[in-house]
Amino acid sequence: MAKKIPIFYYHSIGGPPPETLALEHFESHLKSLKLLSYNTITFADLLKGNYDPKLNNAVLSFDDGLLDNYENALPLLLSYGFKATFFVIPGFDNITRWVNPKTGNWSDTVKEGYTIPFKNMQTQHRRELLQQGMEIGCHSFTHPELSRIPSAELGYQIIDAKRHLEDELGCAIETFCYPRGKYNAQVVEVVKQAGYLGATTTFPGYFNSNRDLFRANRFLIENPYFFEDVLQGYGMSPYHYLKARWRLKNDKRPVIESKVC
Ligand SMILES: [Zn+2]
Repeated sequence: MAKKIPIFYYHSIGGPPPETLALEHFESHLKSLKLLSYNTITFADLLKGNYDPKLNNAVLSFDDGLLDNYENALPLLLSYGFKATFFVIPGFDNITRWVNPKTGNWSDTVKEGYTIPFKNMQTQHRRELLQQGMEIGCHSFTHPELSRIPSAELGYQIIDAKRHLEDELGCAIETFCYPRGKYNAQVVEVVKQAGYLGATTTFPGYFNSNRDLFRANRFLIENPYFFEDVLQGYGMSPYHYLKARWRLKNDKRPVIESKVC
């Protein structure tokens, strides 16, 4: 039987709490990958079959193009010799996003109650990620829920964003990630027509090459114990999920939850 391939996704790494994954939790994920002899590949590698199916393979992906991905995650990835895919939002280059610590909600503008700033990556950061062997994927131009915007705007968010990144970086942008995990049949059709090889959702599950490549499942995991369970094939097991939660709670380490974004 073919080995299960998990795709993981993250947002902020080592940023201000509560909407971030603590750096030590992220590093514990990387340690588990090493301990369990995992090879990391990009999402594009996965879709193109550029990997050895006899090895343990996993994809690490980062949504939203936050600057802390570059500042905090990239150095750790490099020190472990790992690759990742970064789904970026080029229309957010010059804005700061804000989090409301009481609700965990995000705002793209300054608003009362939204007090925690998150800066975004710029062109030079995306270029360096590429130079370091990472993949840049597209996460739309300005991160709307694509299933709720007028269909006339889909081309801008999906096709124009791809072209923009390709002009900026001088390479093909081959993969897409639906903002907030929202899509419908029309959105998927535009993503296919744009020439992407595939796209990721926010539903949990292992990669299945026989399934629709434009609806690839991913795991959003912070608990280091459950991360190991996923690597060992138990990612869809409620028993393992609850047991890992109990173990983390018993450790008295902080459980940090983040919203799908
Ligand atoms: Zn997002």
